[in-house]
Amino acid sequence: MFIKEKILQIRKEIPSHVRIVAAAKTRSVPEVEEAIEAGITDIGHNYVQEAEKMAAALPSKAACVTWHMIGEIQTNKINKALNIFNMIQTIDSIEKAEAIDRRAERVGRATLSGLIEVNIAKESAKSGAAPEFENIKAIAERISILKHIELKGLMTMGPVVDDPQKLRPHFRTVKNIFDRLKSLTIENVEMNILSMGMSDSYQVAIEEGANMIRLGTVLFGERHYAR
Ligand SMILES: *Cc1c(COP(=O)(O)O)cnc(C)c1O
Repeated sequence: MFIKEKILQIRKEIPSHVRIVAAAKTRSVPEVEEAIEAGITDIGHNYVQEAEKMAAALPSKAACVTWHMIGEIQTNKINKALNIFNMIQTIDSIEKAEAIDRRAERVGRATLSGLIEVNIAKESAKSGAAPEFENIKAIAERISILKHIELKGLMTMGPVVDDPQKLRPHFRTVKNIFDRLKSLTIENVEMNILSMGMSDSYQVAIEEGANMIRLGTVLFGERHYAR
């Protein structure tokens, strides 16, 4: 099936308030272009340099695209990332938030949107903030007083599992943290984006309250890593 048909099919299948972020790592410019033509307005990328090339190669219609950083953001790539991304979904510590804010100040960037990434299963190999509520709250409170980051919600990856149902309790926990943070009504913190669910798990994630899903394989087909 073509990318366009896939997108239209999934769009029909999910509630209209759920935003699809097309995860574009390893994809070609024509593939991403086709996704945009099918109505995709949010593009996620894991690598700053590849995203930069892609953004430059896409024609002017990409101007209305919101770019999401969904990979781990290295400190030495923040400046470049600020040129491309509208939202950074992978803020996982106070230090990282401060580093982003400092560089945004330096390059004269007004504000960008941010999500806190929650490492829900406490996997040591994964980035993301430890999932204890007090920890996430402390990061949120710190971001709330930074000038250049507007905190909009939470993101989570979840462990690799054979059955997406196994992710349900994890998604539920993140939704719970999300709701608790929202009820605190921290100044300058919106808490209205909950980014969870990928190709194999988006249905479960939506059932558990996700309103943003990040899809790669199910839109573009299997990934083939060139290196
Ligand atoms: C690659 C990636 C996705 C999409 O993964 P698929 O399983 O191909 O849908 C979503 N989120 C992040 C953070 C990713 O790196």
